[in-house]
Amino acid sequence: MREIIIISGKGGTGKTSLTGAFAHLAGGQIICDLDVDAPDLHLLLKPSRERQEEFYSGHEAKIDPGKCDGCGVCASLCQFGAIREKGSGYAVDLLRCEGCKVCVAFCPAEAIGFPEKHCGQWYISATRFGPLVHAQLFPGAENSGRLVMVLKQQARELAKAQGADLVLCDGAPGIGCPVISSLSGAHLAVAVTEPTPSGRHDLERVAELCGHFQIPLAVIINKYDLNPEETSRIAGFCRGRSYPVAGRLPHDLSVTEAMVQGLVVTELPETAFSLGLKRAWSRIRELAGLGCQGQAAASL
Ligand code: SF4
Ligand code: SF4
Repeated sequence: MREIIIISGKGGTGKTSLTGAFAHLAGGQIICDLDVDAPDLHLLLKPSRERQEEFYSGHEAKIDPGKCDGCGVCASLCQFGAIREKGSGYAVDLLRCEGCKVCVAFCPAEAIGFPEKHCGQWYISATRFGPLVHAQLFPGAENSGRLVMVLKQQARELAKAQGADLVLCDGAPGIGCPVISSLSGAHLAVAVTEPTPSGRHDLERVAELCGHFQIPLAVIINKYDLNPEETSRIAGFCRGRSYPVAGRLPHDLSVTEAMVQGLVVTELPETAFSLGLKRAWSRIRELAGLGCQGQAAASL
């Protein structure tokens, strides 16, 4: 079983549109949306939920108003200003609580509990391209890296149970904690970039990250024809570091058209873009050690 993760140094490079199209081209794989802070692969794949689980991570303080006598010790000790007066007692502002447990330890009335923090939900859903493992972190919730690890674990178990040879992951943009978690154990990272100075700069940052974790990296230059100068700079950077450029995709309105229809671009009649995408996918499979394209994609 191979694990491919599609990443980008920043949002808006077309990463998710490409992941959706690769899911269509691959056939018979497990799809995993690791962008848990702002997932959007479901908008293209229209999943139907088959399993839903709650995600808890860390702890938070919770005052029992029935036991609290309003002494104020907790508010004076909390270094994060998370405890405030409320009515005749006190209450915890959960957005400020850092879970240090000091208030719990020093409350003379033992009125403060320390339950696990409910941070989000994760799901396994059916889609027209295969099972999708995905999640939604609640606004302001932390530990997205840990949720990413939960999703990857579930996707791997599902792949094993179903005999799938590929887990295809849509990673979070940037180089933060969820991306670092996403890269763990991946056989190939594919960075989608665009020909702008910031696109090049962000590609350099993700390349450094992949290098640090020794994850092989391939690159796709999206909208390459919008800025040939920057495209050749990016290609030069890749050549210098021996990163294969798996594809150069032209700017094509069919991508937006597909999105508006809730489809992936390879489901529309063939264009130069979708043809380039198919070639890129063959190259990615090869680089990931997957060999020849499977039956499902061959029939497209
Ligand atoms: S320390 Fe305990 S009893 Fe005192 S205000 Fe805080 S929760 Fe209430
Ligand atoms: S657990 Fe720590 S941060 Fe949270 S309310 Fe108590 S003292 Fe403040």
